[in-house]
Amino acid sequence: MRVDAVTLFPGMIDAPLSESIVGRAREEGFLDLGFLNPRDFTEDRHRTVDDKPYGGGTGMVMMAEPVYRALKKVRRKNSFVILLTPKGRRFDQGLALELAKKKHLVFICGHYEGIDERVTPLADLELSIGDYVLTGGEPAAVAVIDAVTRLIPGVLKKDDATVNETFTGGLLEAPHYTRPGVWRGQKVPEPLLSGNHKLIAEWRRSRAEELTGKTRPDLAARGPERKPARGKKRILK
Ligand code: SAM
Repeated sequence: MRVDAVTLFPGMIDAPLSESIVGRAREEGFLDLGFLNPRDFTEDRHRTVDDKPYGGGTGMVMMAEPVYRALKKVRRKNSFVILLTPKGRRFDQGLALELAKKKHLVFICGHYEGIDERVTPLADLELSIGDYVLTGGEPAAVAVIDAVTRLIPGVLKKDDATVNETFTGGLLEAPHYTRPGVWRGQKVPEPLLSGNHKLIAEWRRSRAEELTGKTRPDLAARGPERKPARGKKRILK
């Protein structure tokens, strides 16, 4: 998958996505990540990318033209453009699964007070990673790119790792344990030591349901399997 980020601070995305599984996915060619800095698309001596807001108020607003030019350079027919904003649709695992099917994602990262509103129609989706305000879209891009990359077939050595995990089946995942069998007086639950696959599956299912009901009743209310309504299979266009 090709991913481009339009950002004033490429290092804020490049560095965290150079480590661990996503770093390896980049090295192995599953993820081809590029950056466009709106500063490189300015024409004045100071390479100005922001200005004061019309109507007054604190902070600076990113100007539309450098972002537009950066986008114009990178956008192709099959590109899906995502504007990161706390006002957007809330990101979740369902969206991550849809985005993982795209050939080319382009993230537009705001900074300061955000970007001139006239850029918004250029995006296919306005996306938020949660109900809080970040200093910029870069950490949001990192979160979304990370969640999407691990869903690209082949990135995780065992693709089934993503099948039973939290959210995928509408449930939180059952807890995990590893050696030693007894740690500071706490034992690993018996069914996990039984070697009986049916028993283990039942135990995991029941713990997942219990945990979901306790900490995420909203997920529990949707039922264990979230089947999309007729004609609503795809979340994105
Ligand atoms: N003034 C804006 C408001 O009140 O809605 C907040 C601007 S924020 C300080 C700067 C940039 O960070 C935004 O343009 C956006 O790109 C990004 N950002 C902040 N919070 C975000 C979130 N929860 N999800 C996605 N992007 C976010």
